[in-house]
Formats: sequence, structure tokens, C-alpha cells
Amino acid sequence: MRPLLGEEEALAAAEAVRSGWVAQGPRVREFEEAFAASVGAQHGVAVSSCTTGLHLAVHVLGIGPGDEVVVPSLSFIATANAVRYTGATPVFADVEVETGNLSASTVEPVLTERTRAVMVVHQAGVPADVDALKALCEPRGIAVIEDAACAAGSTYKGKPVGTDALLAAWSFHPRKLLTTGEGGMVTTDDPEWAVRLKRLREHGMSVSAADRHNGGSAAIEQYLETAFNYRMTDIQAAVGLVQLSKLDAIIARRRELAARYQELLDGVVETVRDPEYGTTNYQSFWVWLPEGADRQEVLAGLAERGVSARRGIMASHLEPAYEGHPSVALPVTEAFTARTLILPLFHDMTESEQDTVVSALSETLHTLHLTVRG
Ligand SMILES: *Cc1c(COP(=O)(O)O)cnc(C)c1O
Repeated sequence: MRPLLGEEEALAAAEAVRSGWVAQGPRVREFEEAFAASVGAQHGVAVSSCTTGLHLAVHVLGIGPGDEVVVPSLSFIATANAVRYTGATPVFADVEVETGNLSASTVEPVLTERTRAVMVVHQAGVPADVDALKALCEPRGIAVIEDAACAAGSTYKGKPVGTDALLAAWSFHPRKLLTTGEGGMVTTDDPEWAVRLKRLREHGMSVSAADRHNGGSAAIEQYLETAFNYRMTDIQAAVGLVQLSKLDAIIARRRELAARYQELLDGVVETVRDPEYGTTNYQSFWVWLPEGADRQEVLAGLAERGVSARRGIMASHLEPAYEGHPSVALPVTEAFTARTLILPLFHDMTESEQDTVVSALSETLHTLHLTVRG
């Protein structure tokens, strides 16, 4: 991944600095409105990262000790950690082999009477089948929270991922399609949650610092509850506004490059694809190595040929932080994390760079005597 950052972002950041207002202010508000509109949500609440956004999403539902939240183990570890921050217990469920995502059939077996929410991840931008999960969860009073860290610009049933989400959290880390350096957003259609989320990110203040400043009154704020400092700065939001204006172009280019990879790798390895109900932004382009492949050997073979690939998506339950954490068997998750690789894909990638990746992968598999898929 290489972030697509140019002069426009640099100028926007400089302008925020020159304005003298660098903390959360008018640019954050503008970015919230523009981003929420782009994902089909009524409200956006900018935060310091997707991780803090996920924490607030669980917190705002009143989830805490004694409660369970179902999460995929196959995800960046922040998904599970966000549940732990509240004192609730993350419960791992397996994923579908085609999408890397939770589904109604992988979640159903792990629901208990303590389940309060399911945190579904749109893994690497591949949309999850959220309607099927809502159909399973809503009748039981279980909330569906969306970890949409990677999913800006992906679509589900013809609409942007995030449309009709109860609560969705987004990331603007440089590894994602849009970046503000660090940063995140929570989107929701619920006006009361939006107000509470804004308060929770800003120490529980009754009036935000920016509003107090603009109001010109001598009103003294109150601190209504114990909350957090999860604010985004106006410098970040200024960069985010420029980035957002590039999103359509970024996605078009990624989808073009992904289609070319799929064509060139046909018969070599299986690759990530659009599910039948939506489109991915190809935030990460993963491929499945043949059975029996030693991933480290393949990565080394690629590196020797000048290609920097990455291991597939991590499995949180295999990390020391979750050692001893009870879990059902997660065979698909374990196969996914062991046998997938993420290939280079970035906006400015050339066709010749892509050809280099494809031949490096084919040669490496050939040298390792790995049978190629038909
Ligand atoms: C990147 C990522 C996060 C964390 O995002 P930050 O903005 O870095 O906190 C959470 N969940 C998933 C699925 C991610 O890919």
C-alpha cells in the first residue's frame, strides 16, 4: 500500500495551521458531513482512529462487563480489543472462505443469552452480508455494529457500505484508501447516538470547545459523564476533505488493477473477488497459496525477485494477547491466515510493475514445485 498524497493535501494542512485553529473545529465538522453523506449515513462523528471509534460504538450501546460481543478472529486485532476496552467479552466466530467475513451461519452457533452485539468486519473492503446478520440478530435484540475500517467506497446491494448501518466505524490510517495520518469516524442514522458520541469523544463536555469559542458567550461547560479524548484535529480533517474528493478515482483505479491481476493470475492462484451481492474497493488484494505451500518461503521468493508482499489477514486468537481466551474451532480463519498473501496494489502502480509481481509469483511457485491451480 502507498497512500496517494499530493500538493493539495499539503496545502490544505498548511491552511489549517495558518488559520490558527488546529484542534477539532470547522474542518472536522465539514469532513464529518461530507464523509457521512458519501457513505449514505445521516451523521458522522470524527474520532482519533477506527479503534477509538469502535470502542465508542460498543460503549454507546451500554455494553460492558458480563456482556458478549461476537467478532471475527480474522481481523486486525483492534476489532476484538475494542470489545475488551469496555469490559465485555469478545467471542470469536469463524468466517466464510469466499469473503473472509462473518455470516449468519458462522455467527449463529456462538450466540448465547449474554450476546449483546455482533461486530461484523467488511474485511479488506469486501462487503459482508449485513442484511442476513441483521435478520438473525434483530429479533433477538442483538445489535449489529460494522467495522468498516477498510470499506470506504465498497458497495452492498447497490448502495455504499455504511448505508442503513446502526453504527459503523471507519479508519483513515495510511494503510486504508483514505488517510488523515491517523483518524477515524463513526457513522449512524440515530441523532441521539450522534450527540452522545460527540460528547463521549470530548471528555463528556456539555458544549464542545469549538462551539464555546464561536458562541462568544461566557457559558461554562459541564462534564456530564466520564468520557474520553478521542478527537480528530482540524489539520487531519483538512487532509481528509481533499482525500475524500479522490475516493471515486482511487476505487476506479484499484478495481481496474484488481481485474488485471485476476486475469493474469487465472490458473495460477485463487484471488479475492466481488461477492455476488456487492463490490469491494480492493483495499487489500489477497491470493490463496496452493495447499502445502510454505508462506514464508513464498514471501522470501517474492522478496528475492524485488516484490514486497505481506502475510494474509491476521487471526487475533493466535496472538499472545488472546492466549487462553476460550473459542470455538476456527478452521477457515486458520486456513485463511496461513495460506493467503497480500500482493502490492496502489493507485500509481504501473502495468509493468504488476507484470513483475505476477511473474515473480509464478516463478516462485514453480521453483517451490507447488502445483498451480486450474
Ligand atoms: C485498520 C483496521 C482497524 C484499526 O484502524 P485504526 O484507524 O488504525 O485504529 C480496525 N479494524 C480493521 C478491520 C482494520 O483493518
